[in-house]
Amino acid sequence: MENNTKQRESLAYEMCLEGYTLEQIGSALGVCRERARQLVRAASGLSVTEITRAQNRPIGSRRNPILSNPDLLGHVLMTAHSYSAIVATCGASKDLVRKWAKCHGLQLPTKAELSERRFYDQIAMSDNPEDCWLWTGPQVGEGYGWYRNWITRKPAYAHRIMWQLVNGPIPRGKMICHHCDNPACVNPKHIYLGNAGTNARDRSSRGRNGTYLTWNEACEIRRLRTEQGWSTTAIAEAYGKSSCSIRNVIAYRSHKKAPNKR
Ligand SMILES: [Zn+2]
Repeated sequence: MENNTKQRESLAYEMCLEGYTLEQIGSALGVCRERARQLVRAASGLSVTEITRAQNRPIGSRRNPILSNPDLLGHVLMTAHSYSAIVATCGASKDLVRKWAKCHGLQLPTKAELSERRFYDQIAMSDNPEDCWLWTGPQVGEGYGWYRNWITRKPAYAHRIMWQLVNGPIPRGKMICHHCDNPACVNPKHIYLGNAGTNARDRSSRGRNGTYLTWNEACEIRRLRTEQGWSTTAIAEAYGKSSCSIRNVIAYRSHKKAPNKR
């Protein structure tokens, strides 16, 4: 009888070390939760909380097949596209996932990393890397990719985001133009750093220079004004328009809403 109790005590202690909860230990040994606690303490002289703390495991976490496995958890963290997906896959709160990740020397992906993963999700690439990479998400204007960055909470052109991911920040007063004349393309090899002048020249050489500003140009004009601090005169010169029409665009007197997608 004495032996039997000793066995149960050491079994309870081992299960506790492995991360089982008191409920699980109790049901394995056929005793209540309180008795399981007593068995663990009798075997080790320590409380469950002390054992958990000594192991540097998050307190109160249940034995979870994903959280307790560094390889599985690492895979989930590397491939997930949102925090809610991580929470759903692990079956634990974000806080608990973070604590466990820390125990395994892992880290939760940052918002920027998740946003980037979702960005790449929306690009259709063919087998040939030289082909155009087509944006499959929302498009604006003449078919330019449009992506709402989770960090800035501002939508931006997908090809501009791609250029920044590959090359870093876009210098002041510069534009990102397409070699391939395919607005939906985000292949880094097909986009280059230009300015309003080269863009306008490119555009007119391809016969796309209408008298009316496109929605896309209007967005670019507003961006040049607010983000790059261009003067209306400079913008008017770059686009070959009167500064009056540029001021109308900036003040949203014209080009108030995006046209419907084509
Ligand atoms: Zn292309």
